[in-house]
Amino acid sequence: MSSAGNSLRSQFPILQKKIGGHPLVYLDSASTSQKPKSVLEAMQRFYEEDNANIKRGMHPLAEQSTEVYEAARSRVQKFLHAPCPHEILFTRNTTEGINLVARSWGETFLKKDDVILVSLLEHHSNIVPWLQLKEKIGIEVEWISIDSDGTLNLDDLKEKLAKGNVKLVALTCVSNVLGVVTPFREVVKLAHKHNALCLLDAAQLAPHSPINVTKIDCDFLVFSGHKLYGPTGIGVLFGKEEHLKKMPPFLGGGTMIQEVHRTMFTSADLPEKFEAGTPPIAEAVGLHAALDFLTELGWENIAKYEQSLLAYALKTLSKLPFIEVLGPKEAKKIASCISFVTQIPDDPLKVDPTELRGVHPHDLTEYMGRKGICLRAGHHCTQPLHRFLKVPATTRLSIGIYNTEEDIDRMCEILEEGYHFFTGK
Ligand code: PMP
Repeated sequence: MSSAGNSLRSQFPILQKKIGGHPLVYLDSASTSQKPKSVLEAMQRFYEEDNANIKRGMHPLAEQSTEVYEAARSRVQKFLHAPCPHEILFTRNTTEGINLVARSWGETFLKKDDVILVSLLEHHSNIVPWLQLKEKIGIEVEWISIDSDGTLNLDDLKEKLAKGNVKLVALTCVSNVLGVVTPFREVVKLAHKHNALCLLDAAQLAPHSPINVTKIDCDFLVFSGHKLYGPTGIGVLFGKEEHLKKMPPFLGGGTMIQEVHRTMFTSADLPEKFEAGTPPIAEAVGLHAALDFLTELGWENIAKYEQSLLAYALKTLSKLPFIEVLGPKEAKKIASCISFVTQIPDDPLKVDPTELRGVHPHDLTEYMGRKGICLRAGHHCTQPLHRFLKVPATTRLSIGIYNTEEDIDRMCEILEEGYHFFTGK
């Protein structure tokens, strides 16, 4: 995949687009990735040839659509190396998967003063559902600290686990801001040693690495299809059967029941128990195609190529004296993304180190967007992390398999231009 980016680009129709006459440089895949033709075609084929609602019909089309939906589940099971297909639940996205666990498992098995441990790297999706439980039943949410470059402090984790009141560690595998890869395998072992469960947020890991939930031994793992070259509207929650079986349904409605009476109902078996209503059928087909596409490229090739691209980005950014990269400066410690702020040397307006330094990321990123460079700026749904880093906002570049060194060069060129535009320096 050495010349990967360029040869792959033709498979992503949107990348041929121009923005204001400028070539599109898409460096926002951590938000959502672009979709290859094979995914778009698989979804169109489904609507043209197989479309019907699943499970409830007795006609051939309903059988066909049920078959392709369940084939997608088996495909995800294979991708995650999960023991059983019914341990794979389709959700809308990562956020819904975490909310499902918080509501169903959390409300059933947690009581006042039980502790959920999260890290300072977490996305709001892996913070707010636990804070909602704190409001509802009085659990405590405690924070695993990190070093200045985002490295997880394992001593702090061990100390907190040793108190014996932690029921779940909810951790991201890769930070969606600093790109830092957490020692999630070790964290699962430590959590289990102290009788706590472990939920992994793999939203930023799944597009870049194969995952083996059997080896990792996590209790729950979530990711979103749309960041993995698949469509929006579908996500995955893997849960160990022993937990899912004991958990009550999250949403009520069609499909998730066995019997409904005037005063009570009984739940369906797994996985239907957690898939109320019409599921995202065409989206499951698209996710299936995306996983086939990635497998065909080869996960090792993807990781190697993306590592070289991240190393190139770090090296190129380090040549810009006004850029401060937050997070590790070695590509082997990161995946997915790099965030930075700008500095104005001897800025007379800089009175407080906690205040914004340099050009506001929103201004810079908007300027770059008009030149075809798609980045993201803001707090990236990680306000606690930004407060820890003492910056109100950052600019983030995030890569996908279709990016090239030329994309990084063009981004740096416009970054320099934008910086001069705003500072005159
Ligand atoms: N967790 C992480 C680490 C993320 O990067 C994101 C998306 N930025 C989410 C959770 C939420 O994903 P979604 O919006 O697809 O639910």
